[in-house]
Amino acid sequence: MTTPYSDAPALRQTLIDTCRRMNDLGLNQGTAGNISVRCGETMLITPSGVPYDRMTPQMIVPLPLAGGLDHPFATPETPSGVLAPSSEWRFHKALLQARPDMQAVVHAHPVHCTALAMTRQEIPACHYMVAIFGGKHVPLAPYALFGSAELASGVVTAMGPHHGCLMANHGATVLGETLDKGLWRLEELEALARGYLLSLQAAEGGPHLLSDAEMDAALVAIGNYGLKTTA
Ligand SMILES: [Zn+2]
Repeated sequence: MTTPYSDAPALRQTLIDTCRRMNDLGLNQGTAGNISVRCGETMLITPSGVPYDRMTPQMIVPLPLAGGLDHPFATPETPSGVLAPSSEWRFHKALLQARPDMQAVVHAHPVHCTALAMTRQEIPACHYMVAIFGGKHVPLAPYALFGSAELASGVVTAMGPHHGCLMANHGATVLGETLDKGLWRLEELEALARGYLLSLQAAEGGPHLLSDAEMDAALVAIGNYGLKTTA
């Protein structure tokens, strides 16, 4: 398991840098995306409605990871005077609670992921890189109002042991052992979604799917694939 982050001041800047790279990669539009990272018993999350080019480390919002999904400022541990967290803080918190093996949550509305999510399709075993999302398909979370506890519950359930999911009529969310790994998975998920969409148009019946045995072999072979890219 990756060691949890503990250096908050540097981590706040890394969080902002990751947001900016997400935009540079064309994975996010405006302030739609949001990123969080575990820092000890706290979750650091991007504030609501602040463009990434104007974001400073002081604007990053700390929220306690313990507790339920009631209002973030209802807990005495949360300092006053901080900006409001991303409206999607509930599913970020719920995912970090449910997945102690993961340190970061990256969410955005990448166009091709969102196109599949609009038609409520998950991504089947159409490419071996599906394995980097921890299973033989990339699941789809049911639709619920953005920011709601219902959405948080649906995303956690759909994600299960996977490392990424689409969100019906919304976008995509991925998990990372680090912020770098989270951003890498979102970039790969968008490429996968684009390829899958093209393959649906390229041949009647869509892509040839890999068998269970072929995906089992890919899952074994892929192992810690990607961990090597971020030492
Ligand atoms: Zn969203």
